[in-house]
Amino acid sequence: MNDFDLLVLGSGPGGQRAAIAAAKLGRRVAIVDRRNMIGGVCINTGTIPSKTLREAVLYLTGLNQRELYGQSYRVKDEITVADLGMRTQHVIGREVDVIRSQLARNRVTVMPGTGRFLEPNAVGVSSGSDHDREQKITADRIVIATGTRPARPDTVEFDDRAVIDSDGIINMERIPETMVVVGAGVIGIEYASMFAALGTKVTVVERRERMLEFCDLEIVEALKYHLRDLAVTFRFRETVASVERMARGAITVLESGKRIPADTVMYSAGRQGMTDGLGLAAAGLAADHRGRIKVDEHYRTEVPHIYAVGDVIGFPSLAATSMEQGRLAAHHACGEPVHELHELQPIGIYTIPEISFVGRTEDELTEAKVPFEVGISRYRELARGQIIGDSYGMLKLLVSPEDRRLLGVHVFGTGATELVHIGQTVMGCGGTVDYLVNAVFNYPTLAESYKVASLDAMNKMRHIARLSE
Ligand code: FAD
Repeated sequence: MNDFDLLVLGSGPGGQRAAIAAAKLGRRVAIVDRRNMIGGVCINTGTIPSKTLREAVLYLTGLNQRELYGQSYRVKDEITVADLGMRTQHVIGREVDVIRSQLARNRVTVMPGTGRFLEPNAVGVSSGSDHDREQKITADRIVIATGTRPARPDTVEFDDRAVIDSDGIINMERIPETMVVVGAGVIGIEYASMFAALGTKVTVVERRERMLEFCDLEIVEALKYHLRDLAVTFRFRETVASVERMARGAITVLESGKRIPADTVMYSAGRQGMTDGLGLAAAGLAADHRGRIKVDEHYRTEVPHIYAVGDVIGFPSLAATSMEQGRLAAHHACGEPVHELHELQPIGIYTIPEISFVGRTEDELTEAKVPFEVGISRYRELARGQIIGDSYGMLKLLVSPEDRRLLGVHVFGTGATELVHIGQTVMGCGGTVDYLVNAVFNYPTLAESYKVASLDAMNKMRHIARLSE
């Protein structure tokens, strides 16, 4: 008999949820991770530190209060990394505690160290690089949830001081006066907006023509406008040729010949799957060139008793999705009936201001020749928008004129990542815009924007109907 029914490699959102779901089904479960990485990238270096940092930045800079109290409003004049780090460390500590307690309550055995395959059903766990002292563990089923690390281009010399990747943000010694962010993906833009809010002069360099191209164009334009207002410079269609380290800071040299000096250069150039030390070959598996593992619709790899979930399988690489993948994989591994991951997956981008959406964009619908009507509500026309001093926020509904179902919900501004779930619920339940028109919302709230946007869409559709009578 094997030591465990299910063994999980990695304690990030995917691994954690897989372990707990299997334990709830009465299975003997173990989870392996380094002692200082319980909770994964999500808790220790990624989602939670970055979102806490954002909250600390918003509070200390008083940015969201300036419309009401004037442009000079600040909670603290000289913000230091210690001010920011204090809140981050506090939240990380609490979150790690919660996870440890959940694993303990569910009798999941936590094995400190890293694991590598010795055989398809056996993993060696060691807490250092010394494989001689490795402990062999066997299991009927294994879930790989080892996540990713920031990709580091060979051409760039990282020193973790002036030239860093996103993991280096939480170890910064001071808030830079100037910063270059290479890569305008979600992580790059989130950090660019936080540092810009802190007063850092940020330059974003991006090879592509636009940023966040999977988002609604109008909303991305609104974000760009706001970031420019915070003194962010965008360099689109520009490629970094080299980064020259200087006594103080570094110069980013672009292929176009531009030289951009900055105290800090942050590379946000994608992520690499954590599979190189996993000994995949011993299990009969292989990863692609970005370290990712291929899975089927049940998160099974090519070796049927081995599953993989979370960032290590690639898109969408979100904590939110990884959790659900972990739960579904564990249920499948335990022979429970499973459904597929719901196709409606929300996207939240914690820039300042934040963005969130669910469903399709205008561009996607146009491309697919699906007709739609747009309903818009602007926060400045809502009493709650005035009360909180958010005059730029907006909610946009894309509605089918054929059956009045919601095709997409796009939100920009305060509370966007929370508000989107109202639209997601209506869409997920197959609801139409009629429900939102007829529903009574608390007043004054931002949620009321759903009613306003629905009325806007309805009025436009009515107008067209009247003209064609
Ligand atoms: P991860 O969280 O990646 O953790 C993997 C774990 O596996 C690590 O603890 C690692 O130590 C361990 N491991 C690696 N190799 C081994 C081994 N051989 N043996 C044992 N253990 C091993 N997502 C969101 O949904 N919302 C956000 O706002 C958001 N913001 C982000 C901000 C940043 C800066 C970053 C970097 C990511 C962000 N993400 C966000 C993405 C999110 O963090 C990831 O999608 C999520 O953490 C992936 O979960 P995972 O289960 O794949 O494991």
